[in-house]
Amino acid sequence: MFNSIDKIASWAKAEGFIYPSSEIYGKFAGVYDYGFYGTLLKNNLQNAWVKSVVQKNSDIVLIDSAIFMHPTTWKASGHIDCFDDPQIDCKKCKARHRADILLETYGINADKLPISEINQIITELKAKGTVFKCPLCGSTDLTPAKRFSLMVKSNLGSPTDALTEENVVYLRAETCQGIYLNFKNVLDSTRLKPPFGIAQIGKAFRNEIIARQFVFRTREFEQMEMQYFCHPDLVAKKYAEWKNARIEWYQEYGISPEKLRFYKHIKLAHYASEAYDIEYQFYCLGNEFKEIEGLHARGDWDLSQHSKFSGANLTYLDPKTNERYTPNVVESSVGLNRILLAFLDNAHTTETLENGQTRDVLKLDYRLSPIKVAVFPLLKNKPDLVAKAQEVYSIVAENFMSEFDDNGNIGKRYRRQDEIGTPFCVTVDFDTLGESNAELKDTVTIRNRDTMQQERVSIEKLKEYIQNSI
Ligand code: ATP
Repeated sequence: MFNSIDKIASWAKAEGFIYPSSEIYGKFAGVYDYGFYGTLLKNNLQNAWVKSVVQKNSDIVLIDSAIFMHPTTWKASGHIDCFDDPQIDCKKCKARHRADILLETYGINADKLPISEINQIITELKAKGTVFKCPLCGSTDLTPAKRFSLMVKSNLGSPTDALTEENVVYLRAETCQGIYLNFKNVLDSTRLKPPFGIAQIGKAFRNEIIARQFVFRTREFEQMEMQYFCHPDLVAKKYAEWKNARIEWYQEYGISPEKLRFYKHIKLAHYASEAYDIEYQFYCLGNEFKEIEGLHARGDWDLSQHSKFSGANLTYLDPKTNERYTPNVVESSVGLNRILLAFLDNAHTTETLENGQTRDVLKLDYRLSPIKVAVFPLLKNKPDLVAKAQEVYSIVAENFMSEFDDNGNIGKRYRRQDEIGTPFCVTVDFDTLGESNAELKDTVTIRNRDTMQQERVSIEKLKEYIQNSI
């Protein structure tokens, strides 16, 4: 287990999961690239989410909307006017801080409070004799809190156009706006009628004031969001169902219930009737519970606002009751990169073996493991063994993400696969070639990551064996 964010970051880089962006240029703060294993793990998490949220629910469809949207989208959603964080600068070391996070260290919850109230709290703190200081350099010479917009701006148009407010576009700050904008398209083009849901996975961008916690908080990240549209009378029931379903999903994929909890938001956005976060206890972040997913009952705010700003009719006429209403939204919003960090944090284990040695194992659920099977020839310098192992590799690679490895001794190869969470290692040895015992010809050993037990399995049955175990 990693007891600091720096340790998990350097492990993720060394093992080929996550690299800092633009490293040869000295890194680009708050942005990360995914290596081979990180990309595969991210894909597997997406697939697991799609399976649970979309595939198993006949009333939910998946879409993929564009990152660029009409700029009015963000006016209607309230992001241009209100999507900001309170920023405090240290005048001495020039460090930037989020005022609400700074106040947390003084035991004060200033989540989503207006700037004026935050400054009032700071004044009162100081009046009581508390030393309100920069956590980095200790200076008390800090600016008052001010509004810092999280929206990332860009410009589209001809390169000769002046960069004006007219051609400004925003990189989306959340994926769900693309869902609201397609509500009518989905309603008109599918046979779905409320209650139904639209899900989407995609990039989001936020100009975070501080992005110092590896992939927990970055300026470019991915969200997996589902918006469920229903009659207002159904909101409470659907909200309770989604709340349950979502926390159970983390447990199904290996996170124990004690490391998960709900956090109820007391201060709600004016349109919301209910808001909970699912929090995970990050060992790498000082064992603190931190948000990984938001669950919100958003009322009819989203569709009403877009209707108001676009003029489109986003209501629904129920043919049975003849009632016309604006569907209400129940939302589940997951940060893909943040849960990837949670799953790594949860899975990394150091075990002491019977011989006193230790081994690092990434105990991911097999369905999430980046590589499912590694194939080794027992010895590297025996062409017959290598050729046979390559043949076995081609067979398993047809069905599973696999790796061929003939570097170092078998023990080292096992350790390497344990470290990236590979559930099965297949070794081709002299028995596979039928050299000493004809009965063992075309059989291989298959070793399990968790039990370290080996079994002899025929090459013919390998696919079935692995399939059944995953
Ligand atoms: P936070 O309070 O941590 O800033 P938030 O409440 O603004 O998060 P939401 O807008 O509800 O987050 O977004 C839903 C999910 O998206 C979060 O639960 C989180 O998993 C993820 N997320 C949000 N911001 C970031 C970010 N900057 N980097 C990585 N993931 C993020």
